[in-house]
Amino acid sequence: MSGGEGITVDVILPMEKAGSERARRAAVARKLGISPSRIRDLRLVKESIDSRQKKILFQLRLLVGVDEQLPPERLPSRDYPPVRPGSPVALIIGFGPAGMFAALRCLELGIKPVVLERGKDVSSRRFDLAPILRRGTVMEDSNYCFGEGGAGTFSDGKLFTRATKRGPVREVYEIFVAHGAPREILTDAHPHIGSNLLPNVVKAIRESILRAGGEVHFNTRVEHLLRSADGRRIRGVACADGREFAADSVLLATGHSARDVYRMMLAEGLALEQKSFAVGVRIEHPQAFVDARQYHLNPEQKRPEQLPAARYSVTTTIQDRGVHSFCMCPGG
Ligand SMILES: Cc1cc2nc3c(=O)[nH]c(=O)nc-3n(C[C@H](O)[C@H](O)[C@H](O)COP(=O)(O)OP(=O)(O)OC[C@H]3O[C@@H](n4cnc5c(N)ncnc54)[C@H](O)[C@@H]3O)c2cc1C
Repeated sequence: MSGGEGITVDVILPMEKAGSERARRAAVARKLGISPSRIRDLRLVKESIDSRQKKILFQLRLLVGVDEQLPPERLPSRDYPPVRPGSPVALIIGFGPAGMFAALRCLELGIKPVVLERGKDVSSRRFDLAPILRRGTVMEDSNYCFGEGGAGTFSDGKLFTRATKRGPVREVYEIFVAHGAPREILTDAHPHIGSNLLPNVVKAIRESILRAGGEVHFNTRVEHLLRSADGRRIRGVACADGREFAADSVLLATGHSARDVYRMMLAEGLALEQKSFAVGVRIEHPQAFVDARQYHLNPEQKRPEQLPAARYSVTTTIQDRGVHSFCMCPGG
């Protein structure tokens, strides 16, 4: 009946029953109008929580094998094709999310990625955050914004977006899972890795790049672009420590905190285009307060273990420029 691939069924269950395999089978059977005994296999595809009413409901999307097993789940892989001798080389400047994913994509395309990152590796970088918190002093090249993993590494790891320009989001989640992120991010409606796990995921991505033959250089701040003799092509970069790197292509993945990079591009005569700016707002509330509001709990009631830490949105209007919403999340 399910044609070997399984069929997708959406069901709604009360919070207390949502984790029970038996309740899931019964709900699916009811929805399909068949006996539960015909359901041979069941796999969670997506889970979201509806807490608008006092009775909390779980909306589950399930892949169901009727009268037959589901095909084995395709697990994300960490194996990238090894770089071949003589492959074209791409210099990737910056090892934040854009640089990491660019390097992995280069490997898929048979291009050798050589990453140049001004900051330190993610483990060493952690120690450079203390002076900011204790003394208010910022190390120029290793701080909350600069270093392996990029700007958000020590701050959160929220993975969902309300942007309408959506790329291959599922593929991105799979890459994270292959590198140690919890499997639940594939099924949660509001996936979140968290800053305690994120550094290890970042490290594992670096290891995949190195294992396939790419290079990652830390403490390497790019200061200039090198041009071809006629000045029309960029053939490499020069770094603050005097080293030069040549390449077939150069990809700037330096984020929006590196103002010196914009000044460098302006000085080099590159065309720059202004875009509108974003303002970050940090609002802190105790988690218990947010949980109580979101899940209709009494202030002294503990959050049931089936429920993740609550998150919420703040909506505001900025100088008649429309409605803006900020997503607030645990730890963020
Ligand atoms: C506090 C905070 C919390 C955030 N939380 C989240 C979240 O939960 N979820 C989410 O999706 N997004 C979050 N973000 C946003 C997210 O971090 C950014 O969108 C993302 O990091 C942008 O990625 P990027 O690779 O373009 O740039 P960046 O992450 O900024 O990376 C750029 C990298 O380039 C390096 N670099 C810069 N100049 C040079 C140079 N001259 N030479 C060599 N290397 C250089 C930098 O050291 C840096 O590592 C957060 C951001 C902040 C600041």
